[in-house]
Amino acid sequence: MLSRKQLQRYSRQIMLPQIGEAGQEKLGAARVLVIGLGGLGSPAALYLAAAGIGELHLVDGDKVEVSNLQRQVLYKTNHREKDKAQVAAQQLTAANPEIRIYAHCRMADEGWLTELLSQQSFDLVLDCTDNLKIRHSINRACRAQRVPVIMASVRGFSGQLVSFDFRLQSSPCYACLFPPTATQSDLPEVDNCSTVGVIGPALGVMGSTQALEAIKILVGLPVSSLNKLQLFEAGSLEWRALTLSGSSTCPVCG
Ligand SMILES: [Zn+2]
Repeated sequence: MLSRKQLQRYSRQIMLPQIGEAGQEKLGAARVLVIGLGGLGSPAALYLAAAGIGELHLVDGDKVEVSNLQRQVLYKTNHREKDKAQVAAQQLTAANPEIRIYAHCRMADEGWLTELLSQQSFDLVLDCTDNLKIRHSINRACRAQRVPVIMASVRGFSGQLVSFDFRLQSSPCYACLFPPTATQSDLPEVDNCSTVGVIGPALGVMGSTQALEAIKILVGLPVSSLNKLQLFEAGSLEWRALTLSGSSTCPVCG
């Protein structure tokens, strides 16, 4: 049962027939893990906090740098050199003090992630990282623990987004789409924002879309990025979708 305060705060989405009071209660009962609080995680976490997701866990081991401020909209100039997860938690608490927010100031390595997902029951993981090695770790950990995941990335003017519902045994996974190569485990990410550049608002589009898909998954609405690679071109404002099927030779789920 929603309180009067909740009915007031969330009134604009509760009045939508797709959400309603039942949908709002589902959002309030949900526990979501957001990995990476950069250009994608900033808008994604802000929208999820504002929408009243009951419990948010924020994972990031970095500190705020001045070069982040062009696109990582959770942070202000006076946050330089502070822990991103900590500052993000403060900012989200200011946006919505009615929800529980936990900061994890560390990188999400596979062992830690697997332990966290096995000890606490999460409804959803958002992969907002900028690193292929971590993305493959998130894919394996979420599949092993049967937690749905929404992954996004942006290079330059091009965005990608895909979701997998690992509660279903038959779900394909990220490694079906992009098999991990031997070198990924040894080499640092070479093709990321610090080396190829990125246009800030494209991260806003993709991060906001992650939050949108998250709300749909949690409320039980159809999810257009499920097993579909959604590609966004910020130059032409065009979206394309590629339907994925599982690979029988996938090293993770085949
Ligand atoms: Zn797979």
